[in-house]
Amino acid sequence: MKLRIVIDPDLCIGAASCVTIAPETFQMNMDNKAEIIGPAPSYERILEVNEEEKNTIIMGAQSCPTLAITIFDEDGKQLYPENV
Ligand code: SF4
Repeated sequence: MKLRIVIDPDLCIGAASCVTIAPETFQMNMDNKAEIIGPAPSYERILEVNEEEKNTIIMGAQSCPTLAITIFDEDGKQLYPENV
């Protein structure tokens, strides 16, 4: 399955808990903002993931104190934060 991950660098306060929980997906950049690891690390990326990776990424997003990480499924449905 695919996930689209979006980080709002204006909300990110560099707490790095997302990196602690999902170090294969998130890293800190030189501005002390989280970014998504890839060939060209960025604040938005579509990743192919398995169920375990998906759960880890969502846990990383849930750990963010400022809700700076938003996650969508491949149909564009927002998985986290949950829409109510
Ligand atoms: S947990 Fe949130 S505030 Fe902390 S580094 Fe990750 S995105 Fe930024």
